[in-house]
Amino acid sequence: MPASQPMVNLQPTPYSNLDRLAIAGKWVQGRSARRNIDRDPYTGDALVEIPQASRDDVDSAYEAAANAQRDWAAQLPDQRAQVMYRAATILDTRHEEIASWLIRESGSTRIKANVEIASARGIIIESASFPGRVEGRILAAATAGQESRVYREPLRVVTVISPWNFPLHLSMRSVAPALALGNSVILKPASDTPVTGGLLLAKLFEEAGLPPGVLNVVIGAGGEIGDYIVEHPTPRLISFTGSTAVGRGIGRIASSGTHIKRVALELGGNSPLVVLADADIEQAARAAVVGRFLHQGQICMSTNRVIVDAGIHDSFVDAVADRVRRLRVGNPNDADTVIGPIINEQQLKGLLEKIDHVKRDGGREVIGAKPTGNLLPPHLFTGVDPDWSIARDESFGPLLPVIKARDESHALELSNATEYGLSSAVFTRDFERGVRFARGIIAGMTHINSVTVDDQPNAPFGGEKNSGLGRFNGEWAMDEFTTAHWITLQYKAPSYPF
Ligand code: NAD
Repeated sequence: MPASQPMVNLQPTPYSNLDRLAIAGKWVQGRSARRNIDRDPYTGDALVEIPQASRDDVDSAYEAAANAQRDWAAQLPDQRAQVMYRAATILDTRHEEIASWLIRESGSTRIKANVEIASARGIIIESASFPGRVEGRILAAATAGQESRVYREPLRVVTVISPWNFPLHLSMRSVAPALALGNSVILKPASDTPVTGGLLLAKLFEEAGLPPGVLNVVIGAGGEIGDYIVEHPTPRLISFTGSTAVGRGIGRIASSGTHIKRVALELGGNSPLVVLADADIEQAARAAVVGRFLHQGQICMSTNRVIVDAGIHDSFVDAVADRVRRLRVGNPNDADTVIGPIINEQQLKGLLEKIDHVKRDGGREVIGAKPTGNLLPPHLFTGVDPDWSIARDESFGPLLPVIKARDESHALELSNATEYGLSSAVFTRDFERGVRFARGIIAGMTHINSVTVDDQPNAPFGGEKNSGLGRFNGEWAMDEFTTAHWITLQYKAPSYPF
């Protein structure tokens, strides 16, 4: 390690100044008149009040990012890798502090907070390998006396917009690869999770020795800075993770404004978990419960619906119900809580409307109960028609609808009968049958005999159809956060046609 690199403090004091923006290596107060009151969704307590970013703050952040990028990209690959390794070590030493923020700010259970920190750590470590792995090529040249090279270059300034559900990991999944590959970044986290989705990342990388201005975090209202941040002339990529509705708007602005730029869109999902007639029912039931109820079902890859062969429907439902009845609902800070609070009242209201719809339309509520505050107990429904909203749309909550399929081909038809195509799972004792079925599903990811929720740092993560554009992780992220620059060298004067 070069002498100038900071050592990691193994007994750190908790981060402070989490009511500021991170711009140009400074912690500054937002200049908008609006304030973000960041609340604990379980207790309702205000955690921090943040004066938000104005458009001038966004300009300052972009200017800082543009100024800092060239020197950052010029650092040796190992220097950039070392920043990543130190960030991972800091994440380890601050595990409890960060888990506590995830629990308080995003309503994560302890189980989910640990999963999320491990995922974020995984992508930091994977990204540490990128500076040494990124490579150009020498191509066969079509012209005599010419050499044809392809350089893989950073995009320069990348904008990251992230959601509230896995705030630390989903911000990190874009920020770490973008930085490792020599870009500078503007990060805009969701309003519900400004600390875990934004400010903690700036703190971590600052402590890890990232130069000032390379990562900037702006907290702001969509109405004030949302479009502005996307339309801005400086970024070359908008890496957006969030809902399909907002992503569609971002794609439109990024491609139709004065300054056209790339977009990477990781959007909503409606993952089916399919249980074929020869499946291990207990194994399938277990995966359905974990895939649906982890983080109260607020995950893009959540098992949004189960499609089960009619012949085993009743025994499968019994196995699921048995497990769901044992899930503990309550304080997310308790080690054995599985279901914590829904992120906010508005989300909860939408979920209660969905529950009313299912009951009104004639679905059977096998398990269900009324909410207490933002705690919504798990719901299991049978008799669900595939055309109902609970089956067709993303519910993003602890609601599990079970749909009967006549046979395997009907199960496949039902799996694809949605606008989304993110994750999926199929259960069968015959692995080749599973692969055939998986290849018929129009989705970015399918797991045979396993849970729909999976994100591994070296495997391509992304969706088809209205679930988005582009892939994260491994070599796919290396493509996403760089661009190819073709450069020819003409050693001998060529013969031109005129
Ligand atoms: P959202 O689309 O409401 O918000 C996402 C981000 O966009 C937030 O930072 C928000 O402040 C910002 N935003 C909102 N309007 C904007 C605008 N006009 N311009 C610029 N930015 C704007 O999503 P959410 O409610 O935070 O997250 C839940 C959704 O995200 C679900 O649909 C879920 O499936 C999806 N999601 C997808 C993935 C994936 O990898 N595919 C991962 C997690 C979540």
